[in-house]
Amino acid sequence: MALVLDGNRVRDQIKSELQPRIAALTAQGHRPSLAVVLVGHNAASEIYVRGKVKACHDLGICSETLTPPASISTEDLLELVGTLNARPAVDGILVQLPLPPQVDTRRVLLAVDPAKDVDGFHPCNVGRLVAGMPGPRACTPAGILELLKRHQIPIAGRRAVVVGRSDIVGKPVALLLLHEHATVTICHSKTPDLPAVCREADILVAAIGRAAMVTADYLKPGVTVIDVGMNRVDNREEAVRIFGDMPEKLASFDQRGSVLVGDVDPRAMRDIASAYTPVPGGVGPLTIAMLMANTVASAERRAGLC
Ligand code: NAP
Repeated sequence: MALVLDGNRVRDQIKSELQPRIAALTAQGHRPSLAVVLVGHNAASEIYVRGKVKACHDLGICSETLTPPASISTEDLLELVGTLNARPAVDGILVQLPLPPQVDTRRVLLAVDPAKDVDGFHPCNVGRLVAGMPGPRACTPAGILELLKRHQIPIAGRRAVVVGRSDIVGKPVALLLLHEHATVTICHSKTPDLPAVCREADILVAAIGRAAMVTADYLKPGVTVIDVGMNRVDNREEAVRIFGDMPEKLASFDQRGSVLVGDVDPRAMRDIASAYTPVPGGVGPLTIAMLMANTVASAERRAGLC
């Protein structure tokens, strides 16, 4: 039986470890505080931001959501970020992506004070990651490392293959695995014979964005699979093809009209891997938990506690 890497349990552990740190900060008059900038009305972004604000509320972290209109210019957004940088009470700034097409996303992310960059996206913090120096790490990759470590999955000396080279998942998770002494290969859409490369992996991270693309022929028996993908499937035939003998998934599809699928074939993971993250309930819950952890760490640094 494969070990299911339980993201909900690890999220709860991380949150309960944050509580005394938040209480200590609050007791000395420095309640941690997160400012979220949500531009316009993107439905998915609104759901993500609601989750982040709720997590703050549950933990006693102060949160504030700024909602400029979708028509905002780059200059006006830069000014807004500048005011948040200057406000002493704000420990963390998160600019929810994607931004509208007229906004220069790169300039906006560069404008966030690296000391308040709780997403770990600022080039200064990416540089700290590359150099192995302390600093905020991108939340999803940091959550993946927590999942592996807290389930005692060995990393040092093992072959890790990361499929996907995005700035928010693929590249940072590859670097984090490298710092833990894995031998890391990064793959992408131009990698020839992807299944053969993936079959070398002891730890396979799939961060692609294609429903169940990674099938049985990509998996070495006993591999640990981290499935980062979150793809909504709303076609019943495709759901049947993916979930075949998993009636509870098809029942969920029939109830909601869609179902969430990772990048890895769920039946192949279940049958071939020694450990894997389910979708949902694997990597997903860790992203917000690590955002909370980055916010608390930022507050501690700014309060001079570390
Ligand atoms: P992204 O920016 O679109 O990057 C996708 C990567 O996959 C790219 O590097 C791309 O290669 C590669 N790729 C695409 N098709 C491929 C193929 N056929 N063969 C090999 N590589 C291929 O996506 P992302 O932001 O990293 O997100 C990836 C997935 O993770 C998405 O499903 C997203 O929803 C999910 N996600 C989940 C969480 C969470 O909290 N659970 C957080 C973030 C993202 P090229 O570079 O060559 O184009």
